[in-house]
Amino acid sequence: MFRNAGPVPAVTMLLFLLACGDGAGTVSRPGIVVVIIDTLRADHLGCYGYERDTSPVIDSLAGEGTIWRDCQAQAPWTLPATATILTGLTPREHGTGRRNGVDYVLDSEVPTFVTILADAGYSTFGVFNVALLSERMGFARGFDCYSCDDCGVYRAAETVDEFLRWLEERDDPEPFLAVVHIFDVHQPYDPPEPYDDMFLPGDTLQQVYWEISEGGIDHPEHAEHFVARYDGGIRWVDTQLGRLFAGLRSGGLADGVVVILTADHGEEFLEHGWVGHGGSFFQEVLHVPLVMSGPGIGRGREVGTTVGQMDIMPTILSLCSVEVPDGLPGTDLLGSSSGEDRIIPASSASFTGSMSGYAPLTEVRFGRMKGILTRRGSTDRYVMYDLLEDPGEQSPLRADSAMVRLLDIRMTTPMLYEPLRAGDLDEGSRSALEALGYI
Ligand SMILES: [Zn+2]
Repeated sequence: MFRNAGPVPAVTMLLFLLACGDGAGTVSRPGIVVVIIDTLRADHLGCYGYERDTSPVIDSLAGEGTIWRDCQAQAPWTLPATATILTGLTPREHGTGRRNGVDYVLDSEVPTFVTILADAGYSTFGVFNVALLSERMGFARGFDCYSCDDCGVYRAAETVDEFLRWLEERDDPEPFLAVVHIFDVHQPYDPPEPYDDMFLPGDTLQQVYWEISEGGIDHPEHAEHFVARYDGGIRWVDTQLGRLFAGLRSGGLADGVVVILTADHGEEFLEHGWVGHGGSFFQEVLHVPLVMSGPGIGRGREVGTTVGQMDIMPTILSLCSVEVPDGLPGTDLLGSSSGEDRIIPASSASFTGSMSGYAPLTEVRFGRMKGILTRRGSTDRYVMYDLLEDPGEQSPLRADSAMVRLLDIRMTTPMLYEPLRAGDLDEGSRSALEALGYI
């Protein structure tokens, strides 16, 4: 299965070569590669301060480009969060997600950076690895070449191969856009050898996923195994990204390509009594990486301002000298106003309940403060956290009137689109999503 996962060149040299273009200069129509690593929490990467050596390639990418230290997901699970990355709209606005147990697709009318760049003459490639991001769910729109595996949890090597093959066979003078979605970090935390036990030698715990039920785990003492295997999965994906970047370089494309790396959401490991994602708005789930490198991107730059996934679309369009649609909530992260504090929201777009019995509804960030609205029955609970004083979110404060108002505004934000209900799943897609806990 991993036959193409050959040895990786020295990453430092690799990324140095990748960055040989003038990172401070600009290219009016650069190539764009957006890498979305499903379920990758930012604080498990070396460039975000993690103690384990999980991410030498990503760290080098960050060192040669710009890293946003505080990027917030707009939803705690795949479907609405990925829709936000593509559309620049919040889940309340694009409407993609789950309501009353029904999945709603990415609306056929909503512009994405894929459809806009395709209209602008870009050739477009997309590869995805979970049924939630399938053609049935509306995610194929705008791609000249698109593929989706229902449950591609072990497909990082094949995914990179698929992209490199497309790149090699491509015969088009126009620049390209590629979206590469990798699913290998997601449960069941079972990367190939030697990544399965590289951070916990001798780890033989198998099928850890099946110990997780109802959001809790049967054996909390096994949590360190989950984390070690999750971290091994990151390192495995990191090596595959090394191959992807080497392919760009060997194709002579590195000077004209901007690489953007992010995640749809993170993952909880019992910080709040829960394993997985989708059931809370804590930072372990909402804090995602955001790194960019290439022409027009500052080198060695770090940005501390709170930003969101909703900023990725306007940033990409600005980089490509394409007009940004009016009315988007995000901002061009490379523009002059990108350093100002803004309200960065998140919505559950309903996937699971919470182990506390309070379903997460909506969340807002403004600077160091964070507010969360949850509901049980007809009871709403408003809390807030001061992330500077309480970065682990262990001591909820009663939300003040300003925070209550912000949360209420988010809850009443009208949908801009009315997506269709997703059609019935075929048997293969249904069993794939059931295996991943999404149904
Ligand atoms: Zn996901």
